[in-house]
Amino acid sequence: MCSMFRLAPFVLIGLLPGCSAPSAQPAQTSRQQPAAANPITVDSTEEQIRQAVGTARVGRRLTPKVWPEGARVAVCLSFDVDNELLQRANPLPVPLSVGEYGATTSLPRILDLLDRHQVPATFFIPAMGVMLHPEMVPAILARGRHEIGVHGWIHEFWPAIGDTANEQRLLAQSIEYLTKATGKRPVGVRAPGSGFGPQTFDLIRKAGFLYDSSLLAADEPYEITSNGQPSGVIELPISEVGNDYVYYGETANGSLPSPDAVFEIYKAEFDLAFQERTMFILTQHPHVGGRRSRIVQLDRLITYIKSRKTVWFATMEQVANYVKQPLLK
Ligand SMILES: [Zn+2]
Repeated sequence: MCSMFRLAPFVLIGLLPGCSAPSAQPAQTSRQQPAAANPITVDSTEEQIRQAVGTARVGRRLTPKVWPEGARVAVCLSFDVDNELLQRANPLPVPLSVGEYGATTSLPRILDLLDRHQVPATFFIPAMGVMLHPEMVPAILARGRHEIGVHGWIHEFWPAIGDTANEQRLLAQSIEYLTKATGKRPVGVRAPGSGFGPQTFDLIRKAGFLYDSSLLAADEPYEITSNGQPSGVIELPISEVGNDYVYYGETANGSLPSPDAVFEIYKAEFDLAFQERTMFILTQHPHVGGRRSRIVQLDRLITYIKSRKTVWFATMEQVANYVKQPLLK
């Protein structure tokens, strides 16, 4: 951690998949979520254990026999545009400026990179991140290839809200704000800080999302099963391995690992996805992965993936629409 963060150790940012933990929360990892409503204990019955894990599970696997254009693998580049909102608990100019860099410098750099390669991407943006930097949305949409998805209101951590009505209100507000800003109702959601509370999946399903991209239970698309029932909601699962934050986030502070090493990890992840003919999702945070030394490696990675030829670069919406066909029968 750099010195500015040492000043406030209580806002340590946890290493979470999909996006970084909000600094308003104590350090958490995906294995250290707040206590669930029905914890598993040594006294739990088999049925209670089944119920405790049953909210959002892997259902029908949805990797198609063939991807569009005869591709062997689908590739989704996703960006969690958290920017200043990770510093909610410590909104002072210096830590805020670390996030502001994501909007002023990284996002234009990323959009230019995607233009050079002519590939699409999906951007998950908290509503108030759009309010702070309204120029981001037209900049993204002007390219005509990208998707914008929901990422909370202020990047709030949903399990900590502890009130279903409030959580539902924040989700509805976030959808409405992005709909107005983009001119299109978002069809995808990624939970801020990968925070799913006991009611979160039900709220996502009721809101009518085509897909979620917060869970980590497979390397391929699947239908989420909730309490034993098929939900009709598609999961495009992420991974901690494919997330820039775990390598470069505040705790790494640009020192180690080398961006070359991160490239090698991403490359190995892609290579096996290619062999398995499934899906490769990369999760980047502009204010983290958009730094100069890091985006050079993202450029290199996209160049490498494109060199394999039979690859389908797509938005997550395009992938979800493609793989949902079996659910319509
Ligand atoms: Zn995030």
